[in-house]
Amino acid sequence: MNIEKKAMYKQMGISEEVYEFSEKIWNSLSDRFAQIDAVSEYNQLKVIGAMQKNRVSEACLLGTTGYGYNDLGRDTLEAVYADIFHTENALVRPQITCGTHALALALMSNLRPGDELLSPVGKPYDTLEEVIGIRESKGSLKEYGISYRQVDLLPDGSFDFEGIARAINGKTKLVTIQRSKGYQTRPTLSVERIEELITFIKERKPDVICMVDNCYGEFTEAREPSDVGADLVVGSLIKNPGGGLAPIGGYLAGKKECIENAAYRLTSPGLGKEVGASLQVLNSFYQGLFLAPSVTANALKSAIFAANIYERLGFAVVPDSVESRHDIIQAVTFGDPEGVIAFCQGIQQAAAVDGHVTPEPWDMPGYDSPVIMAAGAFVSGSSIELSADGPIKPPYAVYFQGGLTWQHGKFGIMKTLQKLVEKGIVSADFSRFM
Ligand SMILES: *Cc1c(COP(=O)(O)O)cnc(C)c1O
Repeated sequence: MNIEKKAMYKQMGISEEVYEFSEKIWNSLSDRFAQIDAVSEYNQLKVIGAMQKNRVSEACLLGTTGYGYNDLGRDTLEAVYADIFHTENALVRPQITCGTHALALALMSNLRPGDELLSPVGKPYDTLEEVIGIRESKGSLKEYGISYRQVDLLPDGSFDFEGIARAINGKTKLVTIQRSKGYQTRPTLSVERIEELITFIKERKPDVICMVDNCYGEFTEAREPSDVGADLVVGSLIKNPGGGLAPIGGYLAGKKECIENAAYRLTSPGLGKEVGASLQVLNSFYQGLFLAPSVTANALKSAIFAANIYERLGFAVVPDSVESRHDIIQAVTFGDPEGVIAFCQGIQQAAAVDGHVTPEPWDMPGYDSPVIMAAGAFVSGSSIELSADGPIKPPYAVYFQGGLTWQHGKFGIMKTLQKLVEKGIVSADFSRFM
């Protein structure tokens, strides 16, 4: 079989050197992969258990139109999410257009004029700057008289407990905690660290709402932030919990009151969760959720493989080759634009959709430097699918994530290495790294 496999890789443009080096790295990862499989096995049972408990039936997979009253599938799916996250309630809708929308909804529905929002983990994800009003924006929380306070992490990545204690005041109504590092260099927060932070905050102000931006973190661990005191967890369905199948959508899971507030904001006061037709998406929401633990594991394996390949070749990688993982994002620093471009082109060349396209850096609105993006996705923009992007500016790092199957993730990373070799950025003689 190995001979056939090697021949197939060759047919797909992978040289013998890249193949042998990749096999060597892969063979060294069996213990890591076994740990990931154990988490995914646990989470698979958690998902099936929640579906069985809520008696998911064939009828749930059908959708409604118009107002969407009595949408059995939608209401059951929300109960399933609530069980998975161990929360009182959940809101899971195609009318929530993306992760930013889900987070904005959670904030805008649970904060009132005069309240204050606190981020104790530093600057939130870029798109939230406009939601909050850190960057002036129409319709921001700031425009509605909601103030914002931020406490940065300490230089070593730990929580600034003194600063947080000082920042909590009579107005503090909601604390937002971003689990994933996103596109920053700080470490991603484990559920254990989130627990430590929430416990500290609740000791000082028990009635504050602790919300976690759960994007990219779902199913990477056995526990979710809602298992350790978060009142609200929020995320996107075109990331982990959609399992690659959901074509749109976002979710909120949490305390009954927080979810009701969000529902009345999403639709209308008086209507709340009662309306919102699910159209034809429920089948993909259910099946995607069913696949999500496994898909997340595949993305984690792909990220770990990438970290090990590129660390071995001498590039800086975050997280490093052995660190524990709490999200699916992998950063690799190349130190020059050509490396970023070659990496992204390699990912693109591995895609099943748009594999023939060559990505180039372009001036994307909202960014202060050209950005290159590789995404050959079945769902446009889906970042649980194999994807990479990098701003063309120092330190010339690329951010890589996803991979619906581990085999695709592995092939994608091999393609990136092949591209780097072809462009002369990496020497084809790997013997000194093996
Ligand atoms: C992706 C992401 C968001 C925003 O989600 P979009 O679907 O891109 O709007 C917010 N926070 C984090 C940490 C993310 O990774």
